[in-house]
Amino acid sequence: MKFKVNKDLCIGCGACQATAPDVFEIGDDGFAFCKLDDASKDLIEDATDAKEGCPTDAIEEVNE
Ligand code: SF4
Repeated sequence: MKFKVNKDLCIGCGACQATAPDVFEIGDDGFAFCKLDDASKDLIEDATDAKEGCPTDAIEEVNE
């Protein structure tokens, strides 16, 4: 499963990185990005928690 951060909505609070550090990171531009092309099963739960915890709903699931 893939996740994407909408940088128009992200406020760089760091919550996603704290919740799912293996999936999300704050970049040099101050906004979060997804580090993985495809989150493996054991990371999907953390990534989904991060998505649900994002205060601005900036994290999207990308289904392909
Ligand atoms: S939790 Fe949401 S607003 Fe905060 S850094 Fe992550 S994507 Fe951006």
